This record gives sequence, structure tokens and C-alpha cells, in this order.
Amino acid sequence: MDPQLAFVTFTLAVFLQGCMSAAVPQVKSAGPGFFRLMLGDFEITALSDGSVEIDPQVLMPEASPVALRRARQHAFIPLPVTVSVNAFLINTNTSLVLIDTGSGALVGESKIVQNLRAAGYRPEDVDHVFLTHLHGDHMGGVKAAGSPGMIFPNAIIRLSQAEADYWLNATNAANSSVIMKDNFAAAQDILAPYFAVDRVKPFNITEGELLPGFRAVTRMGHTPGHTQYYVESGGRTIVVWGDITHFEWAQLPDPELTVAFDYNEPEAAKARSELLEMVVEKRHLVAAAHAPFPGIGNLRRATPGFDWIPVRYDSEPTRNTTDDYVAVTGTTVSPGAIGATTVKSNGSALGASLVISIFTSLGVLMA
Ligand SMILES: [Zn+2]
Repeated sequence: MDPQLAFVTFTLAVFLQGCMSAAVPQVKSAGPGFFRLMLGDFEITALSDGSVEIDPQVLMPEASPVALRRARQHAFIPLPVTVSVNAFLINTNTSLVLIDTGSGALVGESKIVQNLRAAGYRPEDVDHVFLTHLHGDHMGGVKAAGSPGMIFPNAIIRLSQAEADYWLNATNAANSSVIMKDNFAAAQDILAPYFAVDRVKPFNITEGELLPGFRAVTRMGHTPGHTQYYVESGGRTIVVWGDITHFEWAQLPDPELTVAFDYNEPEAAKARSELLEMVVEKRHLVAAAHAPFPGIGNLRRATPGFDWIPVRYDSEPTRNTTDDYVAVTGTTVSPGAIGATTVKSNGSALGASLVISIFTSLGVLMA
């Protein structure tokens, strides 16, 4: 056969085979659940323990069904609502601290450990586990299903004394509602192996530093010793806030909205309102256990209440950024203002620099 004809025939055959090839099965699983950013000198890694499907009306039975549905639809969220379960790993260069641990063995295999490994660490590397509170979806990941049970064998478990006193008390357990009885039993079971080797160290402060750059603030409300951890490095702060919100799309517009298992609903609502005001005022980053993974973002005043602004993805989290937004308050942009001061006054120069920067980026990618 003529070589040219053979080539054309071969190419055509390959092309047609490509067109007719069998469909590839869909993969249908999420990727590794970790997300990284720098906070000053600290490396923050959000770890996913997966997500759960919840009907929000069940957790907020007193919420107006109509208003709740409108808030959900306004945020483009289908039913049932998926709620993330997040934990946060902080490498300070001298310590590795894990704040909350997901549900772990309480609901099956721990995705926190799987994702911690995917993020480049091992459970035995963790020096401190700070728990925001002793609900199953925050403490469950510290213990494996079998003996000896410690997932983090070199870690010291820190939590507020008020939280430990409440959940580890037999009288409180006996007097608790049926729904909470299991949580009392789980708290004792999960912490037992760490108590056995003297690795549970409750802190007896309502506010103070636990490690350089780590401050705990405890306030009764969601639980008796619900704690937020303020992590600060390089002049920036991230507030790891536990269960200040479960449904950010509903409780940020309406911070008064409580959940049925809040220990003290009025105090939980008050704590939420005060903390939201503070993080907006200070422009702190927030790490939320139940906001959509990675659960890190900022808050902005809105009408009503507040908006959640998710952190931007950065494929090179160690690059230097100018956080000039931190000290800015109340900035608004009126329609046309951005165009009037940039594109309209210097359109061709801006266009040219954009084209150059896009091609420079492509060059880097293709190199
Ligand atoms: Zn929770």
C-alpha cells in the first residue's frame, strides 16, 4: 500500500476508534479533603471528615418553615442540606496542633486521618489536640475503634475544664435526655485511653494563651464549655469557632436562630451574635467546623445579618500576599466606580498589562 494512503487509513481508523470507544465509568468520589493556607508563619491545613445530609428543620424545629426554605433557596442549597465536618491542623514550626477531630469511629472510618496523611502528616506527628467541645463530631476522631484506641498517641488533649466537668460527670449523664445519653457515654469512652496515660489536660481558664499564638476563649452556650481558639501569627488571626454556626446560610442572616441541642439556647445565640460582631469588626479569618469545606472564610455585614465570604483558592499557598484588607472597614463600591477609575481612564494600558500577565502565566504553566 502507498505509504501516504496507509498513514491516512491508519489515522482515520484511530480517530474512528476514538469516536466509538466505550464510555469510561464515572468515578463518583471526591478528591482528598485537605486545603492549605499560610497565616503569618503558621501553616493551616483544613481537613475534611466528610459531610452529612441534614434536614435543617429537624435541627431547628422552632424556625419558620417558610423563612427557612426561603433562606435555603436564596443560598442555592438543595434538600437535604449537606453539612461539612471540618478540623484544622496548624503547624507552627515547633508544634503540630489539631483543632477538633471529626466523628471518627463513632460513624465509621475517620476521614480526618486519611486526609491528614494525604496532606503530608502522620497521626503520631500531632503534639496537641484542642477540642472546641465534647460533641461526637468534634471529639470522635481521637479514638480508634479497637484497642489501645489512641489515634494520636503522642498528643495531649486540651479542652475547657467546664466541658470536661459536664460530660464526664455520672450524675449529669443520669439526668440527661435520652438523645444526649449516648454522647455522655461516648465522651467517657473516647477520652479513656488518653486519661489512662495522663494525656488529658483540661484548662481552667475562660480566656488565655495555651501555646504561643493560641488563645482559648470559653463561653457557655452551645455546650457548658464551648471554646473558640484564636490562632495568631504575623499580625493575622484566625478564629477556630467550633459550632458557632451549623447552617451558615441561615444563622449568619439571623444569628438568633438556635439548634435544638444547644445546651442553653439564649446564651448560644448571644455568644454567636457577639462573636460575629467581633470577627467583622477585627476582620479576622474564621475556621468553621460546619461551613462548606474548607470552612475558612471572612464575614461581611449584610442585610440582614452577615455574609460568608469563602477563602480564595491558591495553588501556591506559601506565596507572599498583601493582606491590605485587614485594616479596612466599611468599604463599598458604587456601580461604575471601578471602571471609572481604572479601565475608562487607562483602558489600553490595563488591557495590555492583562494580556502580558496572562501570557506570562501560560508560559509558566507550559514550562
Ligand atoms: Zn458540631
